[in-house]
Amino acid sequence: MTAAREAGFRAALDRALRVGEAVLAADGSALDAVTEAVCALEDEPLFNAGRGAVFTRDGTHEMDAAVMDGRDRRAGCVAGVLGPRNPVRLARCVMERTDHVLMIGDGALRIGREAGIEEVSADHFFTQERYDSLQETLRMEAEGTLDDDPARRHGTVGAVARDRSGALAAATSTGGMTAKRPGRVGDSPLIGAGTFADSRTCAISATGDGEAFIRLSVAHEIDARMRLAGETLAQAANHVVWVGLAELNGSGGLVAIDAQGRITTPFNCEGMYRAWSNEAIDRTIAIYQPCPLQQ
Ligand code: ASP
Repeated sequence: MTAAREAGFRAALDRALRVGEAVLAADGSALDAVTEAVCALEDEPLFNAGRGAVFTRDGTHEMDAAVMDGRDRRAGCVAGVLGPRNPVRLARCVMERTDHVLMIGDGALRIGREAGIEEVSADHFFTQERYDSLQETLRMEAEGTLDDDPARRHGTVGAVARDRSGALAAATSTGGMTAKRPGRVGDSPLIGAGTFADSRTCAISATGDGEAFIRLSVAHEIDARMRLAGETLAQAANHVVWVGLAELNGSGGLVAIDAQGRITTPFNCEGMYRAWSNEAIDRTIAIYQPCPLQQ
């Protein structure tokens, strides 16, 4: 990490946070706030979603995204898509224009075309940095020297929000893992794994080793610990990240908010790019230091 690179990440987080804040300040819904904030993150080439998504081992892009409305647990998710500039908008179309929750392939793309969401050519998603990282990963695999550097795998974007009516929402978008097999689907578009929202408990968006997050049902586990064991969001989220994921050797973290607007952002890796704000505290952009609102 160089100072210039860190400044770039901070500026990108600031831009996305402003987009979400503007929606909420205008009395918009949590659902709109997370959708728009994630679109802003997808448009930033620094993150592994939309423009800047990682490559499959075939040198292609397959993107996953999800959105969930905590008011009624409606959800829309897409997996393995290439075309929409903002995959999270396609997930939202699935939620709002179909009776389904999770869609893939041409059927999913058709919903977006009917809705008129913007499609772009494959070049839009190309970044030299991700391409180099694919070559490096394939080279290390061939040599048998592949390490478990989380930077190779994390970078998914996500947002959670609570609006003035008390509604919660979550959205997540990702290119997946560098050098993944074509057809692989991660935790991000799976409700209860990488994305979840219920206004009575919490909204969650996760990043990390997707397979571990799926096997642990990370987001649903946090909701269940709050609902059934009476834990606070921080207790439940910390337990799942520090104990549950550790048992599966899974690295990563999540952003989460509860019904009272308390925020927690636990992660078990070195850093996680994150930003938050509310009406009562100063806005914060953080990479390494822990969130002051953990408890
Ligand atoms: N969780 C994502 C996946 O497994 C990867 C990431 O967080 O960057 O697809």
